[in-house]
Amino acid sequence: MKKIIITVDGFSSCGKSTTARQLAKELNYVFIDSGAMYRAITLYFLRNHVDWNNTPSVEEALKNISLEFVYNDYTGKSDMYLDDENVEAMIRDMVVSENVSEVAAIKEVREFAVEQQQKMGEKKGIVMDGRDIGTTVFPDAELKIFMTADITVRVERRFKEMFEKNKSITLDEVRNNLEMRDYLDTNREISPLRKADDAIVLDNSDLTPDEQLQIALGWAKERMQ
Ligand code: C5P
Repeated sequence: MKKIIITVDGFSSCGKSTTARQLAKELNYVFIDSGAMYRAITLYFLRNHVDWNNTPSVEEALKNISLEFVYNDYTGKSDMYLDDENVEAMIRDMVVSENVSEVAAIKEVREFAVEQQQKMGEKKGIVMDGRDIGTTVFPDAELKIFMTADITVRVERRFKEMFEKNKSITLDEVRNNLEMRDYLDTNREISPLRKADDAIVLDNSDLTPDEQLQIALGWAKERMQ
């Protein structure tokens, strides 16, 4: 079977990472959560008070940022490292979620991240999830999946995840954040979130994680022939 590139794009919290990670595991492929890269850059900007409306400040800051995914034996997942520090937990904080879509809309930030993402796919055998993977990062990918789910389902899923770590979080906060990010991601000038013309839609509002995985796996196996 030939090695392919699989892209999984879609709105916030519709289960992209879960499906993409499991798909990669089944196929023995590398899984890359591209959102983690934008989150780590945002964390760096927040910590270092980088004025991201000022292009020279952004360019200078990006020179000092090194991003790496490191496999964690304990969780069985890859963690995001920012300048050799494991920031996997911190990048999921609400303060990062509240700012990431603004940072991800900056041209220099996208160029910085996309260049690294494209290098990761040079040998194929990769599943990458994000917003612009099928449209900009790998426009020639063999399999492009566009995931979507009902907003109520997405808010509930995200709320459960965040409530584990932060008991004071409310459903409204989660809903507002998802809606704001979807709006900014869809309406930005560079690489907005949209379905690639040749992507297949996977609406998982009424699917279990295993059902989603089986559907995606079927598509992947077809393309790998
Ligand atoms: O995937 P996740 O929700 O963690 O992504 C966080 C944010 O990063 C998104 O809301 C979006 O603004 C940005 N992002 C992006 N392009 C990608 C992946 C994520 O703009 N390929």
